[in-house]
Amino acid sequence: SFTIILVSSTIFNVSSALAQGRLMRKNEILQEAASTDSLTGVLTRYGLKEQLEPLQGKQAVIALGDLDDFKRINDTYGHICGDYVLATAARLMQETAGTQVCRWGGEEFLLLYEEMDEKAALLRLKRLQGELARAKVEWQGAPIRVTMTFGVADSTHSPQPQALIRLADENLYLGKQEGRDRV
Ligand code: GH3
Ligand code: MG
Ligand code: MG
Repeated sequence: SFTIILVSSTIFNVSSALAQGRLMRKNEILQEAASTDSLTGVLTRYGLKEQLEPLQGKQAVIALGDLDDFKRINDTYGHICGDYVLATAARLMQETAGTQVCRWGGEEFLLLYEEMDEKAALLRLKRLQGELARAKVEWQGAPIRVTMTFGVADSTHSPQPQALIRLADENLYLGKQEGRDRV
């Protein structure tokens, strides 16, 4: 009886350790899937959340970028082309922005510059804006002009990330009103 109990409890311990290992790996896969936008490969809002939380008190700049006249691209060339343009713009941003890029929603992206003042962030954003406008994006042989407008807010206005996002959004709206393709 003792041997049977010993053997079965060993089998139970080993199988529950294996199951726990599988669960942990599954959990990591799900975490990764929730944090990465499947179309563009950049961070999702969920993925960015952990980085926004500890911002309080630190110097940081938040930029919200929105693709210009994107509906027209969808309407002219179709949604598959729109998806391609979104993924291309996200890749260019990731390569040029010099920081983490998050797909905030639709054709809007959030860029978070930590430990950086507004002047330095503006320099990077203007370079990015130029890179996007100059990028040779083509769809079935047709050149597509891809531009973005960015609204910016820096942490001297508020230590709260949510307040900075609101301010960046207001500034983005001003940029759209002033003619788009600008920071
Ligand atoms: P504005 O310059 O003022 O930002 O104009 P806009 O046309 O870019 O803005 P609007 O809000 O009118 O349209 C945004 C469009 O983005 C509408 C929506 O269908 C499209 N969109 C959002 N997410 C996706 C996506 O994942 N794929 C595609 N193809 N289109 C998307
Ligand atoms: Mg938009
Ligand atoms: Mg837009």
